[in-house]
Amino acid sequence: MKLFATVLMVKILVKMLQIFKSGGTSLPGKLATRIYPNVLSVISRRIKIVMVTGTNGKTTTVRMIAEILEKHDFSFITNKSGANLQSGITTTLLNAMKLDGRFQEEYALLEIDEAAFKTVCPLLKPDFVVVTNFFRDQLDRFGELYTTLSGVKTGIKNSEETVLILNGDDSFCSSIGKDLPNKAYYYGTSSILSDDNDYGVTDGKYCIYCKSKYSYHHRTYGHLGNFYCPECGYRRPELVVSLSEPPIMSDTVTKIRLSVARQDHEQTLEGVIPVPGKYNVYNAVAAMTFSLAAGMELEKSMEAISEFEIGFGRMEDIAIGNKTLRIVLVKNAIGFNQVLDLFCSNNKPYPVAMIINDLIADGTDVSWLWDVDFEKLTVVQDSIPAFYASGIRGEDMMIRLKYAGLNMRKVSLIKDYIMLVDKGLKATPDNGYFYVFPTYTALMGFRKLLVKKFGIKKFWK
Ligand SMILES: [Zn+2]
Repeated sequence: MKLFATVLMVKILVKMLQIFKSGGTSLPGKLATRIYPNVLSVISRRIKIVMVTGTNGKTTTVRMIAEILEKHDFSFITNKSGANLQSGITTTLLNAMKLDGRFQEEYALLEIDEAAFKTVCPLLKPDFVVVTNFFRDQLDRFGELYTTLSGVKTGIKNSEETVLILNGDDSFCSSIGKDLPNKAYYYGTSSILSDDNDYGVTDGKYCIYCKSKYSYHHRTYGHLGNFYCPECGYRRPELVVSLSEPPIMSDTVTKIRLSVARQDHEQTLEGVIPVPGKYNVYNAVAAMTFSLAAGMELEKSMEAISEFEIGFGRMEDIAIGNKTLRIVLVKNAIGFNQVLDLFCSNNKPYPVAMIINDLIADGTDVSWLWDVDFEKLTVVQDSIPAFYASGIRGEDMMIRLKYAGLNMRKVSLIKDYIMLVDKGLKATPDNGYFYVFPTYTALMGFRKLLVKKFGIKKFWK
């Protein structure tokens, strides 16, 4: 009865919030938890739960797993990016539940914030947990990386049935499988991702068990790779699914070859990831490893990933002298994340501008900027000559970049588009690109300026 009332209340509140166009997803869940504190643990056995957590790549990994579930005709519930705290997840699940307390769907596929994981995981006792990686992220919000990691371990501790899908190339992730008795599937790379530029290890330089410096057989980016500790012997675990050859990357797609350790043989799979960036290689391998752990058909899963739709708008290159303006429209957090992935994976010394407006066509609430992983820019910031914030909400963009941990001496606020183009192109090396990421109305204004100043006529051809 209590459950019925709680579910009903959540459904009514969600409807009301929709009617009043208030996008909030946390309020119904918050109230539900107040009325019925352990409601999540009561309903968790009624549906298969997959949780995806980690610093980077959660949203993309969730979307790839969603494609895989769809391809296998499994119905599922998923939470919107941004509703990945306990209250948002409670809202999502209770709103999807039928009034008789059952779910129509077979799976709940949940993206969950690393900091919220500690409290939500023990309640939901998920069937699968996918962990993407741990990087330093929003220190002000989450505290130390080690605290986050130990929070994730604490979260899983009393769910011994939970199957773990862990990034074996990440020494933090791997330690979860080492410290807990759960069944774990590790994924990673058995070869070097094509990378001639090395950012160096920033996080996780030292062994989590004995504080000695890790050595690497190969490294992909950041602290990810085939690591080992020369002192205590902690090393990357055996991988079940691994990237077996350097991926072939273009600006838009990445071709990959995977090797899967089956009981009695090695299976090889080839596929295409229709999103650029080496971060997405890991995300795809994580999704594939989930599909193996869940007993799905791998060929079918690979196909599903190849059909994955990119979230960002058209890209336009405009040549100005021997430099190129590359403009990519950003409409939402998912798209922005992918655009940033592309930018970071290039790892070239190119400046970048983010032009944020908040007119109706852009969405009047700029809080979505907090769902974008600008933190990933910190990995490449040493090689980037300049970051610019612009647009009506340029100041908000500045604050967001500051909290992302960028070196603010490299970041400037330039509201005047003419000055922005001048400065940006000056900071661009010969034959290089100046990346510009505008929201919709910002793009319109920016185009107008280009037409006026450079006489450019045709767009989006
Ligand atoms: Zn060690």
